[in-house]
Amino acid sequence: MSVAFIDLKAQAAALGSRIPDAVARVLEHGAYISGPEVRTFEERLAAFCGARHAISCANGTDALSLALMAEGVGAGDAVFVPAFTFVATAEVAPLAGATPVFVDVREDTFNMDVDSLAAAVAEASRLGLNPRAVIPVDLFGLPADYDAINEFAASHGLIVIADSAQGFGGRYKGRFAGALGHYTTTSFFPAKPLGCYGDGGAILTDNDEKAALLRSIAVHGKGTDKYDNVRVGVNSRLDTMQAAILIEKLAIFPDEIVARDRVAVRYTQELANVIKTPVVPDGLSSVWAQYTIRVAEREKFAAHMKEAGIPTAVYYPIPMHRQTGYRQYPVAPGGLPISDKLAREVISLPMHPYLDTDTQDRIISAARAFCFQVA
Ligand SMILES: *Cc1c(COP(=O)(O)O)cnc(C)c1O
Repeated sequence: MSVAFIDLKAQAAALGSRIPDAVARVLEHGAYISGPEVRTFEERLAAFCGARHAISCANGTDALSLALMAEGVGAGDAVFVPAFTFVATAEVAPLAGATPVFVDVREDTFNMDVDSLAAAVAEASRLGLNPRAVIPVDLFGLPADYDAINEFAASHGLIVIADSAQGFGGRYKGRFAGALGHYTTTSFFPAKPLGCYGDGGAILTDNDEKAALLRSIAVHGKGTDKYDNVRVGVNSRLDTMQAAILIEKLAIFPDEIVARDRVAVRYTQELANVIKTPVVPDGLSSVWAQYTIRVAEREKFAAHMKEAGIPTAVYYPIPMHRQTGYRQYPVAPGGLPISDKLAREVISLPMHPYLDTDTQDRIISAARAFCFQVA
């Protein structure tokens, strides 16, 4: 029997009739856009992570774009992003007319390196760009180094937009992702830790004025209503059906976070002596969007696991500064050696809250067998 990389069917089974019932209620009232479930979900999402405001939108990429628009980031501005991330983190900068400047990551956490950020800011200034915003990413579910990033950002006048598409549900020194930067963005793409059954996203912020501004920008720059257009905006809404689904999924999310961690702890216990397993610094907790190990002979490892019926995935094989569409943009001086190295070595194992111990044993013994074979 082949193993699932992420098992959304097991999650649906655990939810029983809750999602079909929630969808049926939406079909009943028929308010498919901006229905009552949207506000209810936003309130619960904000309460969950301890942010003052949650503004839902169409997807996690729009969430980043909306935050840049709320800050008026545009031509001549530099936006600092890690090179080792999903493309969405970087693409929103040129879409806003700004320049992405790539920053290296730390080898232990895979997250933004503040020393590299400082070097990148100096480089941007040298190039005549105006350092405006930094987008740290909570890669694979682990919160970035927020104390260091926020302190650096405050002393250099940078806006912090935390890209927590993978990290929502993670914690940093007792606080949840969502309340760690000026803005936190997340995605409800189905495979994310908190996913819906389509596209969806949200922005979290404590700033009342910016929250109102974001709500306007996301609905055609509306004033009193969408036929009163007080600024240029976009159309980026979470639809009611997805909000209804997310209300049910958020209700079981705390249990799922515990289950994800149990899976990760077990992987680490059984694999740390043979493979480079992920590092979680003291005081932080990952929501394990991915369980990502490092293997020098990655292709051979993937083939060996596939042979045993176990899927693996590589996030991300090419760092942003080497992508065809992005290699013209500046990087921190000295290059981005860690991003290059991680892109060659990382590989992720199946990870979801419903991974049972028998299946996990199969994965663990296949991975261990590979290590003994190459040793
Ligand atoms: C998934 C993801 C996004 C974008 O989310 P979408 O909802 O797919 O637009 C942004 N940043 C990171 C790091 C992601 O993993």
